[in-house]
Amino acid sequence: MNYTFGPAPVVSVPVVGSPLRFPVHRVYCVGRNYEEHAKEMGFTGREPPFFFLKPTDALIVVNAGDTGIMPYPSLTQNLHHEIELVVAIGSGGKNIKAAEAHRHIFGYAVGLDMTRRDLQNEMKKQGRPWCIGKAFDQSAPIGPITPFSAAGQVSEAEISLQVNGQCRQRSTIAKLIWNIAETIEHLSAAWELQPGDLIYTGTPEGVAAVVAGDMLVGAVTGLENLQVRVV
Ligand code: MN
Repeated sequence: MNYTFGPAPVVSVPVVGSPLRFPVHRVYCVGRNYEEHAKEMGFTGREPPFFFLKPTDALIVVNAGDTGIMPYPSLTQNLHHEIELVVAIGSGGKNIKAAEAHRHIFGYAVGLDMTRRDLQNEMKKQGRPWCIGKAFDQSAPIGPITPFSAAGQVSEAEISLQVNGQCRQRSTIAKLIWNIAETIEHLSAAWELQPGDLIYTGTPEGVAAVVAGDMLVGAVTGLENLQVRVV
């Protein structure tokens, strides 16, 4: 096959304990999936799940023990952190039932759904798509993927984010409104999932702004930490 110019490289994420890399297909995100975060955003926390996407090449892939670099993005005065558990899909499907969902999970990672909150809020007000607030370049830092069998009880794990050594977000995956299996059921009713899909499952309360120079350390018990510096 000859192309008019070189095709974009495959985006991939390292896998803990393996020389093989996880090739990324799509990046799905779940909105308002923890009750206390939904409330801080002005909602009740009882709405059905909803989804948006980020471009695959918006990922900042950070190796274990490394510090990812995130340039402070353009057009915003209010860049927010959202620490999230990321589910990596290993086998696809449509209309996957929650009881079968675990069979489709390759593993888990720690991710940040970085958000230009001022732009997102303006789009919400105008009833327009969120893309400019959510799907900008380098908006999705992610750490290495820990395989399902090695990750332990992720559904009960603690999730947290420190900024410059101060705790900003702390909760447990058990507080997801729509748990991992239910999220896969809902998502796969709307899109056919494919191997390589990533699902950012939503953030707990405590979202706030970061500025250039800040060091972010995200953690989910049982997974590799995700360390990112905003520059
Ligand atoms: Mn989010």
